[in-house]
Amino acid sequence: MKHRFTVTEKESEAQFRRVSQDLLTHNPRQGVNYWGGAEYPTMLIWAGRIYDFLRVLEGIVGYHPARMQSYLVGYTSGWNGADVSARLATDALANDGKARLLSSGSGILSGAGWGRCEIEYDDVTGAVHWAFPEGTAIGLAARQEGRRDKPACPFVAGFVAGWTNRSLGTKNEFQETECLSKGDSRCVFESVEYLRPKAD
Ligand SMILES: [Zn+2]
Repeated sequence: MKHRFTVTEKESEAQFRRVSQDLLTHNPRQGVNYWGGAEYPTMLIWAGRIYDFLRVLEGIVGYHPARMQSYLVGYTSGWNGADVSARLATDALANDGKARLLSSGSGILSGAGWGRCEIEYDDVTGAVHWAFPEGTAIGLAARQEGRRDKPACPFVAGFVAGWTNRSLGTKNEFQETECLSKGDSRCVFESVEYLRPKAD
């Protein structure tokens, strides 16, 4: 069966109020924010600075190591995000919890300002596809700095991998097959067999 999860523009507005306002609390003593009751400090950061973690490291060690570093950090972010969301949404998880947790990723990303996306999941083949029709926030930021040959959003590729695997209990890796920064009209992430070398 194929599942398709989307976020309309109206839902994106509602998710913004929920994710970026209602779920954030401020600790005035620390001057630090917390999200969704999690113990992790949360802060606003320009999307272009996330891009810089790739761009600067690319200049030092080359694209592939830089991509992997960005991907792995994004992976932890996606995994932890799904983990916190799983605790927030215990009622919704009663029925078809895996796909529901996966689907909640689109609303969280949109509400957090990372970009509005559509997720497709084929539970027979296991293929998962995340498409951002207007690009990710990082792709939009990268495009501001000029056209690239290689995708700019490995952080998001890692994020969707972490979110997908935490939701479905899979070991998917993701590759960005279209990116705004390359001149494509959108950013697209597809599940792939291998990206990281397997430990065994
Ligand atoms: Zn991109």
